[in-house]
Amino acid sequence: YSLEHFVIPKHYENDLQSVMIPNGLVMDRIEKLARMIVDDTRGQQPLVVCCVLKGGHQFFADLVNFMKKCVTKQGSNVPLSLEFIKVKSYENDQSTGNVKISLTDEELAEFKGRDLLIVEDIIDTGRTMVRLLDRLKAFEPASVRVTSLLLKKTPLSCGYIPDYVGFAIPDAFVVGYALDYNEHFRDLDHICVINDTGKAKYAVKEA
Ligand code: 5GP
Ligand code: MG
Ligand code: MG
Repeated sequence: YSLEHFVIPKHYENDLQSVMIPNGLVMDRIEKLARMIVDDTRGQQPLVVCCVLKGGHQFFADLVNFMKKCVTKQGSNVPLSLEFIKVKSYENDQSTGNVKISLTDEELAEFKGRDLLIVEDIIDTGRTMVRLLDRLKAFEPASVRVTSLLLKKTPLSCGYIPDYVGFAIPDAFVVGYALDYNEHFRDLDHICVINDTGKAKYAVKEA
């Protein structure tokens, strides 16, 4: 979509090429995802909803809000417990190949026997998620499901597909709705494509 139809913060108005997914559409889709996830949840024990920070925080917040309002076929709500994992893998728009996970082994040991739902902003090559899942599974959770708001269609994909996908998107670098470019653009409601001006303005300069 052309930018002129949307409210874009002044400080970003020259840095974007287009709006890929308007915020309202994102919210509609998340409401549906919440329903699907709740329908697939047994709910004998609290579901541990794990937010992958920082990019996943907005999706996580909105998803949890919709999940709280979902009543199961048995007429109950799924009890939720909330966790936060900081995972960092990118500089500029290139994957560094390094994945740093913030939780200690003692903290990860709490996942033993629990039902986990990992909430991620975007899967690109899939390598970050594969590594995160390997690490988590070593701590023997009862089950692990993954939801990603976005799944990029890229030839560089390692083949990983999450259990619940919001939108499959073309191979462009997107920002907004908590997704960043070097920590900028998280304060933008819509999911947008950055332009060359934006990339240059917010690039990390080599030392
Ligand atoms: P992957 O390991 O799947 O290649 O990359 C996953 C991580 O890279 C995501 O969690 C996200 O932090 C970052 N990433 C990949 N593509 C994009 C993108 O188009 N925009 C932004 N902002 N981050 C991306
Ligand atoms: Mg992420
Ligand atoms: Mg990032």
